[in-house]
Formats: sequence, structure tokens, C-alpha cells
Amino acid sequence: MSKTVLIIGGGIAGLCTAITLQQIGMNVKVFEKSTEPAVAGAGIIIAPNALEALNPYRISDEIIRKGHPSDGFNILTDRGRLITQLAIPPGYGNLYSIHRKDLHHILLSALPPGTIEWGKQFLHLEQKDNHVQVTFSDGSQAVGDLVVAADGIHSNIRKQTLKEDIYRYAGYTCWRGVISVDGLPGLSHRFIETWGTKGRFGIVPLPKDKVYWYALINARQGDSHVANYSVEDLQRLFQNYHDPIPSLLLKMASHDMIHRDIVDITPMERFYSDRVVFIGDAAHAITPNMGQGACQAIEDAHILAECLRVQSDYQGAFADYDARRRRRIKLISKQSWRTGQMAQLENFLFTSVRNRLMKYAPKRIYRNQAQRLYKFQLKG
Ligand SMILES: Cc1cc2nc3c(=O)[nH]c(=O)nc-3n(C[C@H](O)[C@H](O)[C@H](O)COP(=O)(O)OP(=O)(O)OC[C@H]3O[C@@H](n4cnc5c(N)ncnc54)[C@H](O)[C@@H]3O)c2cc1C
Repeated sequence: MSKTVLIIGGGIAGLCTAITLQQIGMNVKVFEKSTEPAVAGAGIIIAPNALEALNPYRISDEIIRKGHPSDGFNILTDRGRLITQLAIPPGYGNLYSIHRKDLHHILLSALPPGTIEWGKQFLHLEQKDNHVQVTFSDGSQAVGDLVVAADGIHSNIRKQTLKEDIYRYAGYTCWRGVISVDGLPGLSHRFIETWGTKGRFGIVPLPKDKVYWYALINARQGDSHVANYSVEDLQRLFQNYHDPIPSLLLKMASHDMIHRDIVDITPMERFYSDRVVFIGDAAHAITPNMGQGACQAIEDAHILAECLRVQSDYQGAFADYDARRRRRIKLISKQSWRTGQMAQLENFLFTSVRNRLMKYAPKRIYRNQAQRLYKFQLKG
């Protein structure tokens, strides 16, 4: 018999799970606290593993059509010299950058009208013997067989289930934005990350002469002085970096920048609790250094549906989902954390040694790592 599944959170994880669960015949409802689809946001990179996981749902083609391809990242010094190329292995396809609002639009379009209820802020849930009951801040309630917790890194559902604090501040803070770059010289079609002693700067082209940029600098957690940086502060910080970084920042306005401290959560001990299963950032928010947070949420969505498809008993399905996801998530979370620590080094001597090590490291080390990362496997 078809189960009724209540998905809390309409971000990438929640929407993808709605798509994959509807495909296996579940009766799905998404509850999102925002009153309408997000119109703001920066860019995002979708990697081959996520495109493969979305392929059966005919979404990958749309992302490819609306995104900008790159066969990898160039890592540069602040002077613009190449440290190394992180290339996607041959035969794996490309990375695609896309505006977040375009990605949301693609995912929303894949769902039948009425799947999402907007303006529904989850407050609490009660697990009963044969169903689960959810209460929202407007006093309304919903009843289902199962709940998917897709309410992001600050998941209320996780807090109610786990109680303990599992956040980890990475030691650096991030600004992001999207700008129009019509006619700006010196832009490469490849994605670029520049690692200097004053911070890290990313340039990711988007279609239609737009660029998604991000800047990461070391700071104390919650430092209010740093949090209030204006675009002029960033211009000063990165003024001696190679072109086109200073000219990109000149095109930016402070009110269009999105700021956030970089935090991850140590992956939950168990990605489920009775009738509730956790997915995406609610279960395992990852630092953004490998561009895999959303990609792993997409993998979660595909694998959860596969587990529920082959096992009618939800407890067995959730245990199977947990077993298939745990190792990969732990590995990527750890790798992403380490990459961030390496990329954020500030000491001139250490950065010189790092750059040399990366430049002359055998290419097969990165190739093997990339082959594991960019391959989607149902078995995890
Ligand atoms: C700087 C930065 C750059 C990144 N770049 C990339 C990248 O290039 N590639 C990549 O794959 N990943 C990237 N990520 C990670 C990626 O953004 C996240 O992993 C992904 O968005 C997580 O999706 P989610 O749906 O799990 O959570 P969220 O996007 O946080 O969505 C959660 C949703 O739940 C809703 N919600 C929250 N609480 C409630 C409630 N109580 N009731 C109802 N609804 C609620 C929220 O409004 C939201 O819509 C990046 C992250 C950062 C910080």
C-alpha cells in the first residue's frame, strides 16, 4: 500500500526527495516555512555524481541546459600562477554551475502542482504506534506514515531527536554573490579558485554573462565586525590579487552579498529515528570545499527512494539507507574539512610549501580521489 510521506523543508534535499518518492508511488507532501519559492541566492555547482543520481528523473538534462560547464577547477596563487588543475576524470562529464533559483525552478517544475505547502513552519512531531503527527506554527497539523527531515543544517527535527549540539565551526567565513560581467576581460570559462595568504576567492561563470563569486577569510566565529564587512572591505582585502578579482569586486554592491560562517555538523550517529529519516544538511551538512553538500543531498534522495522501493518495511529501508550512505558521507565530510584547512593557510612559508607539494604531487592521487567522488553508486 502506498505510504503518506511528510517532507519537512523545501530546499534541494526536500524537493529531490519529493521527486524520487513520487516516482515509486508514495503519496508525498512537502511543508516549507518560506511563503514562496526563493528568489535570491548565489550560484551552486552540480557535480557528475549528482547528475547521475538525477538522471532517471529527467532532471539532469535541464541542469545541463541551464548551467555552465567546466571540466574542473584551476587552483591559482594570488598572483594568478597555476598551482594545480583539479580535472574531472575523462568519461565522467562536467561540473555545471547554475543559479540556485534556476535549480529550484527546475526541481519545482518536476513536481505536480499542490505537492508543496508554503508558509508551513514545522514546530514539533509525535511518533505514534502506526503514524506520525506533525504540528506547524499556525496551529495546523498533518498526519503521515513517515517523515523526511529535510529542514537543513539548523534542523528543528534533529534538535528534537538528538538534543546535543554537533556543530563545528570551520574557522573561516564566507561571502557570495552573483554579478553581471558583460565585457569584463580576463575571465576563463573554467572554474577558478585562488588561494592566497589574505583569503580564498572563487570565480565560477554562469550562463548569460553572469559570474558566481565567493570569498573566504579566516575569522573568529560570529565576529560581528567581520560579519559587517562591506564590499569596500573585500575590495581592500583582495586588491593585490590577480585580475579579474579586483575588477569583479568593483562591480558588486554590499547589499547583494550573502554572508555566512562556515559550519558543518558531524554526521548523525544514525540517519533515522523510528518513523523519521534525515536527509541532506539536516543529517550531515558538509563544508563547501568540495562543492558536495547539495550533491550528497541529491544522492540521499535517490538512495532513500531505492531503499523504500525494495523493502516494504520502513524500518528495514531506513536501516539500509543509513548503511549505504554512512561511509561515503563520512569520507567526503572529512576530506572537505581537510581541504578547507589546507586552502585557508595564511602563513607565507606554509602556503609556499603547500603550493609546491600540490604542484608536484603525482596526478594519480587526485585522479583516484576524483574517480571515487564523482561516481554515483547505489550501494554507497
Ligand atoms: C558557501 C556555500 C557554498 C556551497 N556550494 C555548494 C556547491 O557548489 N555544490 C554543492 O553541492 N553544495 C554546495 N553547498 C552546500 C549546499 O548549499 C547545501 O548542502 C544544500 O543547499 C543543502 O540542502 P538542504 O535542502 O539539505 O538544506 P537547505 O538548503 O538549508 O534547505 C532546508 C529547507 O528547509 C526549510 N526549513 C527550515 N526549517 C524549517 C521548518 N521548521 N519548517 C519548515 N521548513 C523549514 C528552509 O526554509 C529551507 O528551504 C554550499 C554551501 C555553502 C554554505
